[in-house]
Amino acid sequence: MHAMMLKKLKKPLEWVELPDQEPDTGEIRVKVSACGVCRTDLHVVDGELPDPKVPIIPGHEIVGRIDAIGTGVDGLHMGERVGIPWLGHTCGVCPYCLRHQENLCDHPIFTGYTRNGGFATAAVADARFAFPLGDVGSDVELAPLLCAGLIGWRSLAIAGEGKKLGLYGFGAAAHIVAQIAKWQGKSVFAFTRPGDIATQKFARSLGVVWAGGSDEMPPEPLDAAIIYATVGGLVPLALKAVCKGGRVVCAGIHMSDIPSFAYALLWEERQLVSVANLTRQDGIDFLGQAPQMGIVVKTTSYPLQKANEALADLRAGRFEGAAVLMP
Ligand SMILES: [Zn+2]
Ligand SMILES: [Zn+2]
Repeated sequence: MHAMMLKKLKKPLEWVELPDQEPDTGEIRVKVSACGVCRTDLHVVDGELPDPKVPIIPGHEIVGRIDAIGTGVDGLHMGERVGIPWLGHTCGVCPYCLRHQENLCDHPIFTGYTRNGGFATAAVADARFAFPLGDVGSDVELAPLLCAGLIGWRSLAIAGEGKKLGLYGFGAAAHIVAQIAKWQGKSVFAFTRPGDIATQKFARSLGVVWAGGSDEMPPEPLDAAIIYATVGGLVPLALKAVCKGGRVVCAGIHMSDIPSFAYALLWEERQLVSVANLTRQDGIDFLGQAPQMGIVVKTTSYPLQKANEALADLRAGRFEGAAVLMP
């Protein structure tokens, strides 16, 4: 197999040839057909997550077809198309796993961070954490649903029932969430980098009712806001934009420090929460309904060997929607 591997933190990925890995008990191997590029991959490469492991193959939005099955795997068959997400394994016995919060597991394994991921021609995964994807939709369009879509789905659930929803940072996740929220009957307000007219136009093309800079106030108070950008300075701005009792959800795995702000911004039962990882139930709920939502995923494809270019373009915000690597 071949892969784009991170051998040293903060260095470009390297094209490597590796021996084919056989799936162990309870594991499957897939021939990767597409793997999305997520902002978390940048955090992995930059060493911004705790206990970084190198060498590692990043990538946790994997779409592939099963080409080897280990012993003890039920319900999956050779040639089946599956998706492999960020949550790669949970312990099943910690207090969080036992109370159906496996996204908070004390001993998790994450795809592309603590086990090898999908910037490769093949990937091995814990079969219990692979989602059957059926045959509707192209590999390239499905890949971003495995993280941007799934984390988006979970953050949307945590944002609550309110009809007026703000999205700060309009990248891969927000462009999918905007469409899900609209499908749910919500009005979406998109906040981009100040002056980013092109992204505001892109947001409007997806049906948001208002798009502007993150330094602007929305035309009316919001019920909830979700922050996808990694900028802590957006937290007080989002708190200011939500109504009494409103909720601000931080959806990123990493964020710069949040500046101090007046207590008045939190007063009147405003809530500030974060969303972490996903559960398998999130995947089943979201991927089961996604075909009915009519989500149009805007993708920019790169050959696998151009993974460094894709990461650089993501860092610089050079494309709309999501980047996907194709082996
Ligand atoms: Zn991700
Ligand atoms: Zn656990």
